[in-house]
Amino acid sequence: MAGPTEAALAFVRHYAEVVHEHKSELTKLDSAIGDADHGENLDRGFQAALTQLPDDDAGADAVLKAVAMALVSKVGGAAGPLYGTAFLRASAALGEHEQLDGPAVLAALVAGEQGVIQRGKAEVGDKTILDAWRPGIEALEAALDEGASCPDALDRAAEAAEAGMADTIPLVARKGRASYLGERSAGHQDPGATSTALLFRALADTARA
Ligand code: ADP
Ligand code: MG
Ligand code: MG
Repeated sequence: MAGPTEAALAFVRHYAEVVHEHKSELTKLDSAIGDADHGENLDRGFQAALTQLPDDDAGADAVLKAVAMALVSKVGGAAGPLYGTAFLRASAALGEHEQLDGPAVLAALVAGEQGVIQRGKAEVGDKTILDAWRPGIEALEAALDEGASCPDALDRAAEAAEAGMADTIPLVARKGRASYLGERSAGHQDPGATSTALLFRALADTARA
């Protein structure tokens, strides 16, 4: 099994690839209820992150911190600062853990969510990133409590995040640009919840690999 730094690097490289592959889809979702840039924003940020990753003995926390810095400096709008804060908080949480096991990943995701909430002041049901993030965390915690292995628990988290993503379709947006549309934001899947569901799936895929 790879060490924590290699695992974190593998995750970031994989998620960057996934974002790149889903760039048009994310932007298309954002064109329905936003300003058609979510895919470009995240892709620009993660491509920049790839050029700034530390060496494979730097620590998993240093990997996530490098991603946070790239996102904050290269991505404007809502998602850059929100994901940037999430990666920064996740990095700090990982710094407290020796292993990159289930509890460490859960702690990182919980800290990341706290960052998103503090920065964006959204609640579950506001049609944002949190609508995939929260169910993902809840499923991960439940699976780990039941004794599931880390890859199995992350699979369940990814499924729950994907369900949360789909559940944003009927919601009326209460935060971000989509909220300017009021009731007209209903009937469309939230772009940020979609990129978050992809993130949980990328974690599960990396843990399985
Ligand atoms: P912008 O809206 O500035 O163009 P993006 O298009 O990159 O930024 O990101 C839009 C996504 O950001 C939305 O789909 C939503 O999920 C997320 N978002 C917006 N505001 C918030 C917030 N306050 N809290 C959490 N997520 C948010
Ligand atoms: Mg946008
Ligand atoms: Mg924008």
